[in-house]
Amino acid sequence: MGIKRLNELIETYKDYPKEGIEFKDVLGILQDPNVFKELILKMSSSQIIKNAEAIISIDARGFIFGSAISLQVSKPMIVARKPGKLPGELLEKNYSLEYGENALSIQKKALQKYSSYAIVDDLLATGGTVNCVSKILENNNKEVTGVIVVVELMKLEGKLKLDYPIESFITF
Ligand code: AMP
Repeated sequence: MGIKRLNELIETYKDYPKEGIEFKDVLGILQDPNVFKELILKMSSSQIIKNAEAIISIDARGFIFGSAISLQVSKPMIVARKPGKLPGELLEKNYSLEYGENALSIQKKALQKYSSYAIVDDLLATGGTVNCVSKILENNNKEVTGVIVVVELMKLEGKLKLDYPIESFITF
């Protein structure tokens, strides 16, 4: 899988969902199963995944990549979801996004089962989303082995917010 092919499949939408934002749509990757498969194999072979007992993937595009990795490496996956989407007792935290405010929650019972997590999402922008998940994990005495994303937006310097190894497969 060349970076060039990945680049071709990720479409950029200017001023979406707000003016000034260049939205990188990773969903095009799913329309080329060979590239998708190769990407999942690369993500799955990362030390960040190998060192973790489980995967935590982030609502909603993170679920696509996280669940494929989970199947590939036979490790359990749990999810971090936007408000109002999960039943049961939840651990919740607010955070700021490149284009607004949000909150994420994790089911307490699911989180308790595993001791170390690799965080999976589609894209790292300001790092606020991943930071929110890592804080929930830290506050509950869980180890974070690192963060795996498909795309990293370098100028937003999300990496600076995070104290963990970060791996991305294409940068803009
Ligand atoms: P951040 O918290 O700023 O790192 O934002 C990362 C999260 O927001 C990811 O879950 C992305 O799906 C989404 N996101 C933020 N900025 C963009 C962007 N420019 N293009 C696509 N998705 C984005």
